[in-house]
Amino acid sequence: MHHFDHPDSNSSSKGVTILGATGSIGVSTLDVLARHPEKYHVVALTANSQVEKLFQQCCDFRPCFAVMVDERAAAQLEEKLHSVSSHTTVLTGEKALEEVASSQYVDYVMAAIVGAAGLLPSLAAAKAGKRVMLANKEALVMSGKLFMDAVKNNGAELLPIDSEHNAIFQSMPVKGKSGVKKILLTGSGGPFRQREINTLSSVTPEEAVAHPNWSMGRKISVDSATMMNKGLEVIEACWLFDVPSDLVQVVIHPQSAVHSMVSYVDGSVIAQLGNPDMRTPIAYSLAWPERIDAGVDDLDFFDVGRLDFEPPNFDRFPCLKFAYDVHEIGGYASIALNAANEIAVESFLNKQINFTEIPQLIEHVLEQAPSGTPLVLEEILIQDRESREAASLWKKNNKKQTTVL
Ligand code: NAD
Ligand code: MG
Repeated sequence: MHHFDHPDSNSSSKGVTILGATGSIGVSTLDVLARHPEKYHVVALTANSQVEKLFQQCCDFRPCFAVMVDERAAAQLEEKLHSVSSHTTVLTGEKALEEVASSQYVDYVMAAIVGAAGLLPSLAAAKAGKRVMLANKEALVMSGKLFMDAVKNNGAELLPIDSEHNAIFQSMPVKGKSGVKKILLTGSGGPFRQREINTLSSVTPEEAVAHPNWSMGRKISVDSATMMNKGLEVIEACWLFDVPSDLVQVVIHPQSAVHSMVSYVDGSVIAQLGNPDMRTPIAYSLAWPERIDAGVDDLDFFDVGRLDFEPPNFDRFPCLKFAYDVHEIGGYASIALNAANEIAVESFLNKQINFTEIPQLIEHVLEQAPSGTPLVLEEILIQDRESREAASLWKKNNKKQTTVL
């Protein structure tokens, strides 16, 4: 680890690392932090390759470290920071992500890298006993028990950032699960809840990323359109709250005002409501068990008007069904689901496959996944790689068939 003088922060100020600072969650996190300069200071910001955006954030928040995974982008960032006499040290490479996630100067880590790329740094934060604010659901879907054990065995605190899981966390008993009957995981149903089903194959990437209620990164926006996002969230809920998947019921709620609910044996249902703004769960996770201003407007009930609820349609959204099945099959299948989905979404965004081929590709990759659960990290990474290869192969063969026809 590189050494540096500790910033002139008072002892109660918490040092924060943001993994994925330039993304949608990263930007919202900085917005909340900027409202409470006396409570938090930024130790490190990380990004994949967006130089201009990370440079601006470094100027605004003066972190000790900036990690740019891409080497060339890191060199550009370093030059720009040098020209304004910044004290921020620029690091590069994937290992640097783990370093700034586990540094002794860091108290809280916002895990907001998208996809499997976030697994190792998120895990490093857990192993270092940090408060892990987990947005990177793919990491938990991939590593499940291993991640939860790392949290438990190292005295880390795991605070869910996903709005649904944050709502469940707020609605659960303070300790344990006494009296909990069911978790009701709400979802808006995405942009294609009511679209004519036989027109789904012609959906464009632009239509798929246009979510009706939330503004998010491109990958999670496509996941919301296929409802794979809700599927990943079912698995995420099972791990976070230690419940079997049949206790997690998906409820379609198009207004996105109720962010999820917990139902109890005595007939009570506790829900958390609010505007669809990620700054609410971010602020809650930063301040927990207290609360701080998040810059979010009050929920205007007269504006919302009504709250609708309906069951999910598994025929329209096969990805949701895959997730339930996979969680029963085991860890290898979970990793395969996530890997195949990442390849499928990227291919759809690059216009290499169409929208309805996303579940086809995933189903094919799932058929090749072994049953059981990997016990060590290395096995997780191997399964991830093999499933990505299987997904690429499916794409290649599928293309050939289409040209022949
Ligand atoms: P985004 O695409 O807007 O941002 C992703 C961030 O990760 C960027 O900072 C990018 O630089 C970084 N990144 C991407 N690939 C990387 C790599 N290979 N190595 C290192 N860094 C890399 O994504 P987002 O919408 O902010 O989502 C981030 C995570 O939070 C996802 O796991 C998503 O499912 C979850 N999440 C997001 C929202 C939301 O409202 N955006 C809500 C709930 C959960
Ligand atoms: Mg969510």
